[in-house]
Amino acid sequence: MAKFENMPQAIKPTHIQGISLESIAEKYGTPLYVYDGEKITNQVHAIQKAFQGVPLKIKYATKALSNISILKLIKNAGAGVDAVSLEEVRLGLMAGFQPSEIMYTPSGVGFDEIQEAVDLGVMINLDSLPLMRKFGEVYGNKVGACIRINPHIMAGGNIKISVGHKASKFGISIEQLPEILEIVKEKNLRILGLHVHTGSDILDAEIFLRGANVLFETAFKFPDLEFIDCGGGFKVAYKEGDPRTDIQEVGEKVSKAFQQFCEKYGKQLELWLEPGKFLVSESGYLLVKTNVVKKTPTITFAGVDSGLNHLLRPMLYDAYHDVYNLSNPDGNTHTYNIVGYICETDTIASDRELSEVREGDILVIKNAGAYGFSMASNYNSRLRPAEVLVWEGKPHLIRTRETIEDLTRNQVVIDI
Ligand SMILES: *Cc1c(COP(=O)(O)O)cnc(C)c1O
Repeated sequence: MAKFENMPQAIKPTHIQGISLESIAEKYGTPLYVYDGEKITNQVHAIQKAFQGVPLKIKYATKALSNISILKLIKNAGAGVDAVSLEEVRLGLMAGFQPSEIMYTPSGVGFDEIQEAVDLGVMINLDSLPLMRKFGEVYGNKVGACIRINPHIMAGGNIKISVGHKASKFGISIEQLPEILEIVKEKNLRILGLHVHTGSDILDAEIFLRGANVLFETAFKFPDLEFIDCGGGFKVAYKEGDPRTDIQEVGEKVSKAFQQFCEKYGKQLELWLEPGKFLVSESGYLLVKTNVVKKTPTITFAGVDSGLNHLLRPMLYDAYHDVYNLSNPDGNTHTYNIVGYICETDTIASDRELSEVREGDILVIKNAGAYGFSMASNYNSRLRPAEVLVWEGKPHLIRTRETIEDLTRNQVVIDI
């Protein structure tokens, strides 16, 4: 258990669970997403172990990687799911989760979606005062719900992924607590949980605790609570030496504070967490093939058969993803910009030392498990890659490569 904890990632893995990535690329072609299922379950277990002193429910943030086979794997490891769309709720149900294991955390969706989710039997996370009012008018105290609080904390790796600060659209401002309480009373709402999610790439146990503390203080105003949901956002390492959330430390500190709170509250509640990136980021590898090596007077570009259509994070967040040359591990190193084939500025990684890249070489882009495939698009009318899960020492195709028929399926070609 927790084999990977405190262990630097193998820098340039050539094998996953004993299977060579080269053979996987050969068998399934490129571009290809490959996931190491063992790493995912190890991450689930690391959180379970760190929080073993409290009744913990892990609600995996489906939006990080939503393939049904991955969801099944996570279910088998003992977690539930957090869904941010009705479609993700449905994927969770398809993966075999009970409705009671699914949390629906919408962000400004129409009330028809809320009603559908209630009909499906999942927990609703109310994210605005108008939604609280409407929910109360329709369901009163017949359907319990959770409230998403915006604690006004600047947390997370950068402004684009920080969602719990004052100017953020998410949740209901903690300063509006009087209004929240008024609506709860007036509409006779049964509030079963309080929720914060402040952002992604949170390193510190202290920052995480600050969000939790806001909920602990607020909780006394809500007598029917069954759980406190502290959200996700644990940081993983993107490169050698990168700091990552010390989950054991967070677990110990938050568990202790939580148990002290429960004592004061007078009831043992459940602690919910919603890790996304932490569970799946390091499990994923995007394998791409080098189409061209282009030297300019100043830069050498390695152009590959993928791009921001398959992995948006470098262009969207300036995210750093490690890249290495799988096909020529022992070549002399040179400096490259690894670029995609999309007709936009499409830089996957710049200024990287790689062993010599030749046409046809397979490059591996690391940390591609979270917000990789799930953010992929068909921009430039490109097809989305296949996905392979390595589980119990075998590669399993869990999504076929798209075809031109997939691209045109819903188009209606008119006579013109
Ligand atoms: C995105 C999201 C998460 C997961 O964030 P990570 O940084 O991937 O851990 C958790 N909860 C909610 C509500 C989210 O929107």
